[in-house]
Amino acid sequence: MSFKALGLPSSLVEILEKQEYKSPYPIQKAAIPVIMKGRDVLGIAPTGSGKTASYVLPVLSGLKQRKEAKNRQVDVLVLVPTRELAEQVKDVFTLFEKGLEHTAPIMAVYGGISINPQMKALFGISVLIATPGRLLDLVNSNAVQFDKLQTLILDEADKLLNLGFKEEMNKIFALLPKKRQNLLFSATLNEKVEEIHQFLLHNPEVINVAPKEKNLENIRQLAYTIAEEKKGPLLRYLINSENMQQVLVFTASTYKSEHVADKLHKNGIDARSIHGKKSQHARTKALEAFKAGKLRVLVATDLLARGIDIEYLPHVINYELPRSPKDYVHRIGRTGRAEATGEAISLISPEEEHHFRVIQKKMKITVALEDGNALQLK
Ligand code: AMP
Repeated sequence: MSFKALGLPSSLVEILEKQEYKSPYPIQKAAIPVIMKGRDVLGIAPTGSGKTASYVLPVLSGLKQRKEAKNRQVDVLVLVPTRELAEQVKDVFTLFEKGLEHTAPIMAVYGGISINPQMKALFGISVLIATPGRLLDLVNSNAVQFDKLQTLILDEADKLLNLGFKEEMNKIFALLPKKRQNLLFSATLNEKVEEIHQFLLHNPEVINVAPKEKNLENIRQLAYTIAEEKKGPLLRYLINSENMQQVLVFTASTYKSEHVADKLHKNGIDARSIHGKKSQHARTKALEAFKAGKLRVLVATDLLARGIDIEYLPHVINYELPRSPKDYVHRIGRTGRAEATGEAISLISPEEEHHFRVIQKKMKITVALEDGNALQLK
């Protein structure tokens, strides 16, 4: 399935190709055609699932050239919980807006900086991305109007609600025209999100791409106690002795992920690292090679690993333990499915032994522990 087949204009598809978005992610496949039809959508999708493009692309392609002269009316409003997300969403809109035949000016507003320049700049804006508090301040200063609003988007609705923005959001909803499209994205579906979705969305298409709770029974879990300095040799021993061909290795830090990948590489095992400090291009390339089975070992930090959407992995190795027990389950949940058994191995240094016991207790699991120091490592 291609982006073109989803009905997106070819000018947008060209930008997607330049960005090396080769094929739509599941949330994009499901959401783009529905949003283009004008339907409301409830998208349960975590960060890293491609949720931003899943609404940015169809919303932009539905924007018409405005007839009236510049004013303070906006066409699209995106509510976000943080300034960081506001900037990220703005960047995605800005990237794809270049593919439109007409211009659709985009602006992000949030608190923590002076309001005056925002008031002045809010003129002739088509797509406004805002945190709720600052938006209300701008409304109160008559800097923005919503009579022509076509689409309301809530991004990271669970976070918006957890941060206590409910009251501000209700005030904002009351200002919007009744007839509009509503898109609500949330990483999780909890009671608070349920409530707001019942109130806000009309006959929505529900799209759920949140990772399902994995059945850990299908995963063979194993751990080795090992001196910290022997983790590298043990990792190589495991990869070679079991002849592992597709291994995802987790480290706790960016530095370690580089170091581990380097060491493997120097020892003749094809490995690359992905972490937050690598360029998007380098990350995409490494991921693609790994998915295609052309790269034997991918060394990743937890943050980056969230975006790895590989259905089934035979081997996951925790070179270092994650901080939270939940992350342990996320990591090992990447292996093992109903019809296949996966293997998750943790390398536990003496300093990590206590933390590993805590993880097992919290997650109500027991992992067989072997003495790695007794192995004949080279
Ligand atoms: P998001 O979940 O929207 O934060 O997106 C996660 C990351 O995936 C971003 O860095 C996007 O640039 C990237 N991305 C989104 N869709 C695709 C796609 N179809 N192909 C490749 N990369 C994508």
